[in-house]
Amino acid sequence: MAEERRKAVLQLLQRPGNARCADCGAPDPDWASYTLGVFICLSCSGIHRNIPHVSKVKSVRLDTWEDVQVEFMASRGNAIARATFESKVPPFYYRPSASDCQLLREQWIRAKYERQEFAHPERQEPYSAGYREGFLWKRGRDNGQFLSRKFVLTEREGALKYFNRSDAKEPKAVMKIEHLNATFQPAKIGHPHGLQVTYLKDNSTRNVFVYHEDGKEMVDWFNALRAARFHYLQVAFPGASDADLVPKLSRNYLQEGYMEKTGPKQTEGFRKRWFTMDDRRLMYFKDPLDAFARGEVFIGSRESGYTVLDGLPPSTQGHHWPHGITIVTPERRFLLACETELEQRAWMEALRKVVDRPMLPQEYAVEAHFKHKP
Ligand SMILES: [Zn+2]
Repeated sequence: MAEERRKAVLQLLQRPGNARCADCGAPDPDWASYTLGVFICLSCSGIHRNIPHVSKVKSVRLDTWEDVQVEFMASRGNAIARATFESKVPPFYYRPSASDCQLLREQWIRAKYERQEFAHPERQEPYSAGYREGFLWKRGRDNGQFLSRKFVLTEREGALKYFNRSDAKEPKAVMKIEHLNATFQPAKIGHPHGLQVTYLKDNSTRNVFVYHEDGKEMVDWFNALRAARFHYLQVAFPGASDADLVPKLSRNYLQEGYMEKTGPKQTEGFRKRWFTMDDRRLMYFKDPLDAFARGEVFIGSRESGYTVLDGLPPSTQGHHWPHGITIVTPERRFLLACETELEQRAWMEALRKVVDRPMLPQEYAVEAHFKHKP
């Protein structure tokens, strides 16, 4: 009976490995790929639907199941699929979660099941070789136009370089792997494959915005950058375990969005700026896609004299947005205003998370650089 078969599939969801989506880890999946034998969430089922030669999906609760399909699901499940399709995932490879962008989740699913990259390590060459070169569309610093640029990543030199002309001998920029970060920003960049690469130059953050039309190429670049960071950190911290290093390979921002701010005298008018909270760096830009930050503020810990206060001092004037935040640092106070209460709460939470965390020895060195800035 159809009802009994559906119940039998529902029962399988109780098995430990099946309690989370096989692809993004979201809880309580109620879709399944009955050709791959995995339980997945609704969102990942949409991606599976786009690769019908590999995966066919059904709703556990709403669709009709055949005996042979129920038996197959019972014989497989997420734990076995993981052992099969994820047997050789390199430690640096980015495993997306439910909150990651569509591109990362889709390429993870295609890499696992369609290309079977993690059962065949020789297919990992595009991001494991330690060298990669190719063309990416890069946003021009001044005119905002995307132009094709040659990029070269070399682990041996510990650098990512790009060239303004493909026959140029000297790179336009050399970005040290040591200080490099990459994070997908499709909404901000206005392209579903948009990647923001940041690096430090003279201790200030520089932004480079790139994309490739081909989703696999873009995610291969991203993982190649993570691989280069991984190998750099392995050399820099010889005793560290993979588990210690992997969270340091790339960072997503803690919070981003518009706020208003005053200048140091706090009598200047408030100006709308785009803020990015990157770990302990709070940066502000005139435009979200500016190459350089207008300013950067180091956010230390409570013990070192940093506090985040709800609201603005009563005498404050000149802000258009009603929801204030005061950041107190050992040097000065920063007065900020958010347009909505929801945004103010999100910023308060992000800032407090950082302030509540004790500082690491190397973070004191970073703080000292900020103090010596003119
Ligand atoms: Zn999922």
